[in-house]
Amino acid sequence: MTTCYINGKYCSIANAKISITDRGFQFSDGIYEVITVYNEKFVDLDLHLYRLLESLKKIDIKINLDKSQIEKISRKIQVINKLKMGIIYIQITRGNQHPRDHKYKQIKPNIIIYSIKKDLDKFNQMALKGVKATLYPDIRWLRSDIKSISLLGNVFAANHAKKKKAHEAILHNEKKYITEGNSSSVWIIKNNICKTHPLTYRILKGCTRAKLISLLIENKFKFKETIFSTKELLNADEVFITSATNFVMPITKIDEHTIGNGKPGKVSLGLRKSFIKAI
Ligand code: PLP
Repeated sequence: MTTCYINGKYCSIANAKISITDRGFQFSDGIYEVITVYNEKFVDLDLHLYRLLESLKKIDIKINLDKSQIEKISRKIQVINKLKMGIIYIQITRGNQHPRDHKYKQIKPNIIIYSIKKDLDKFNQMALKGVKATLYPDIRWLRSDIKSISLLGNVFAANHAKKKKAHEAILHNEKKYITEGNSSSVWIIKNNICKTHPLTYRILKGCTRAKLISLLIENKFKFKETIFSTKELLNADEVFITSATNFVMPITKIDEHTIGNGKPGKVSLGLRKSFIKAI
């Protein structure tokens, strides 16, 4: 049974219980973070912990743990659960408040940290073939920069993708401009220029995105943080997504449209290789 950290204690996940008065349960009043563990190594740990603290600040939650303490607990969970490949999941909600009230009080946050095993090597095989994506309207709220546990818009999109037998849903706004994936950042390459949505309230500041930008700069590959349309997406030479678990995943089909020659692009696969080498 997986061991979980819950509010200062370690116990089996089956015995980890949170009150029904938890504001995360009642209002989605909380944030989360996902850190990949690849061959027992934490990937981009600092970037993820930094974003976790940023998310807390954005929704005005104060916790009595600092970055190094969260790291220590996460590493302990990885060791106890003997996690070789998978993710560390961290969730912090504002805490328990009764009676239910939209207005919050200064209460003790609920903090949980546990791990989930994932076969990340399976993604290597998928990347070599390329995966399918599907388009879906971005119906989320206007603070997608916060890694909020309120994910119904993403849940709708992901389940649309499941129905379409697609790996990911690519979201477009009302003007048909691409924002991001249901759980990833989206990139296109056209005429040797790589493009991704700029960091605004519309998208999450992906940690893999940040790492990829440094790889692009290192490799002297031209890139622009700029909005691009659905049309540009479908006519791109290469399309790929990035996320903590996908790393760099080439997209070869979007609904009925084939991207490029229908095979994963050279640049996308090269970037995936560089990414794995870097971690
Ligand atoms: N955008 C959304 C909506 C996500 O949920 C995620 C990751 O889960 C990302 C982008 C990619 O972020 P990261 O690279 O930090 O995993």
